[in-house]
Amino acid sequence: DMCHITPDMIDTLAPKSFPPCMRHLNDTLRADHHLKYNGRLIYGLFLKAAGLKLEDALHFWRSHFLQNMDVDKFEKRYAYSIRYNYGKEGKKTDFSPYGCLKIIMGSVGAGDTHGCTFKHTEPNILKQRLTAYNVTKPVTEEIMDLVNKRHYQIACQRYWEAMHGAPIDAGINHPNQFFEESQKFLN
Ligand code: SF4
Repeated sequence: DMCHITPDMIDTLAPKSFPPCMRHLNDTLRADHHLKYNGRLIYGLFLKAAGLKLEDALHFWRSHFLQNMDVDKFEKRYAYSIRYNYGKEGKKTDFSPYGCLKIIMGSVGAGDTHGCTFKHTEPNILKQRLTAYNVTKPVTEEIMDLVNKRHYQIACQRYWEAMHGAPIDAGINHPNQFFEESQKFLN
């Protein structure tokens, strides 16, 4: 792909260039040192497509998970699925990262953090999160209005524009496209 990211870059990239769905998964991982199955899958495939190599992915997940468990448990329960995402285990499929529609249409249960930020976040929590992300009040209001009308991807486009202080020609249809447009703009 266009770039190669390493684990030490992730916490800097997340607020600047990740879509809010992936930014939230990274924040959850940092806070809880854990992500549930779908979160690991969706965030793992996003990072892979963003250019995180397998060895770096193992290092990244291990550094978070080992704050909560020993190496043995990590290796037995989690390392396999990380290699699996990279097509190194099981059927050796090279899995694609999830696009917006797949994430928006996916089911998200209580306590899950892997959904589309605009579709799956309680309105008052979404508002708080946007404020914490330094989105201005008028833009937050505009985003809440778009969410109300179920225009989730346009809301995400407004978020991209708020983060970059610039318009974007393309609509948002994929978390990795959000990231790539951001990197193109910033670099
Ligand atoms: Fe993520 Fe797409 Fe939702 Fe944006 S519109 S938060 S990129 S799923």
